[in-house]
Amino acid sequence: MPKLKVVKFGGSSLADAERIKNVAQIITSDSARRIVVVSAPGAIKENDTPKVTDQLIRLGEKYKKGENIESSMDEIITRFAEIEGELDSRRIGTKIKQMLADRLALIDSQQSMDPLMALGEELNGKIIADYLKKFGVDTCFLNPEEFIKVDETDFGKTHVKRSRFSDISDRVTAILTCYDLVIVPGFYGIGTNNQIRTFPRGGSDYTAAILAASLGKEIVEVHENFTDVNGVLAADPKIIPNARKIEVMSLRELSELTLGGSFGVFQAEAVAPLARAGIPISLRNTFRLGENGTKILTELSTTQDLVRGIAYRGDYTIVNIRDYDMGDKIGALARIIETFAKDGISIEHVPTSQISASVIFGSKQNKDRKLLSLLNELEKTNPDELSIDLNVGLVSVVGEGLKSASGVGARAFTKLANNGINVVTSLFNGINLTIGVVNGEAKRAVEVLYKELIG
Ligand code: ASP
Repeated sequence: MPKLKVVKFGGSSLADAERIKNVAQIITSDSARRIVVVSAPGAIKENDTPKVTDQLIRLGEKYKKGENIESSMDEIITRFAEIEGELDSRRIGTKIKQMLADRLALIDSQQSMDPLMALGEELNGKIIADYLKKFGVDTCFLNPEEFIKVDETDFGKTHVKRSRFSDISDRVTAILTCYDLVIVPGFYGIGTNNQIRTFPRGGSDYTAAILAASLGKEIVEVHENFTDVNGVLAADPKIIPNARKIEVMSLRELSELTLGGSFGVFQAEAVAPLARAGIPISLRNTFRLGENGTKILTELSTTQDLVRGIAYRGDYTIVNIRDYDMGDKIGALARIIETFAKDGISIEHVPTSQISASVIFGSKQNKDRKLLSLLNELEKTNPDELSIDLNVGLVSVVGEGLKSASGVGARAFTKLANNGINVVTSLFNGINLTIGVVNGEAKRAVEVLYKELIG
């Protein structure tokens, strides 16, 4: 079998019938595009139409509160009826009302909005599969409910375990022997209790990544991700309005940047399966096919840019533990980390020295985790000093070239100092120089560092 492409179209690319027609042309123009993951219809900025997923959530919320849901139901029904009408499709038709009612009933019986939220992707997938058949393409609609088994992390976050990949691959490979094209709705799978479970928002990227990784690089040439922007930007455009577009980058760099602060281009969770499987990504703008987009490769042969991009995420807490004998105690660090694990706190970084450890984690976890009880536990390990820094922002300066270049750190710290920005922590893992500053200074830190290191 020649190598194929796993393609994903985001919601804005599929927001109405006109856009679906455009997408159908893109799909059929390349016979290697054999697995296509679709989102629910997204927002249409020009007329303020929201994402279908948001409309479904609003409907579910109203239902839970016992409010009148008629107008919210109608909004969704009309939207799909319009799409189907313009595509001359009758796949969903009047059945949608009952489908919505059934999914709303699951809110009571399963205590979960997931089945309702997943309906946008499911319906759009069915409509698109139906439409593609009109082009004479042998198309199969494959429902993730049947073959994407979903598990939960310790924090209740849905994901697909690697041990599930071979079943997924078997199923998809079998379908590919019978059909030219497979349409898979993104964003959901089936939980261990046989209930529909959605991935975190933007999860269609994750579905595509799981499918590509399950099949592996021997079968998948590339994951093409079609979205409504020209590519990955070197910084958040809300902070750097003219941030330059990245032409080529590595999967490692994308992973560091999306985890370090999302620019909304690619879901952070979706990078890891592709990086592990060694499958490159081609990120493209559905509406500007002439643009190159961003190529995200497994390895870069050379790299001209030292710094590929700068990300920022706010609201971290740092717990600093100082023990003058730490370096001589076997398992001292393990005991500290164990204390956080027992309290259910997910740690992001732990810069250490011979006499100290600073544990960095997202502040959101403080609210229900009682920082005080954690500090009491840590006191029991008898540290010499215990202190906390609240409201820390982390700025990530990312680039494969950083490891072998000299002077980038010096330039970064000098510029921050010259601008009166105090550094409270820093870490370096070879491609990511993470600098902690107080939240309020973080955006200015990004501006200063962008100007100095990217231009
Ligand atoms: N429709 C879902 C969302 O809006 C998933 C996706 O579009 O990727 O988050």
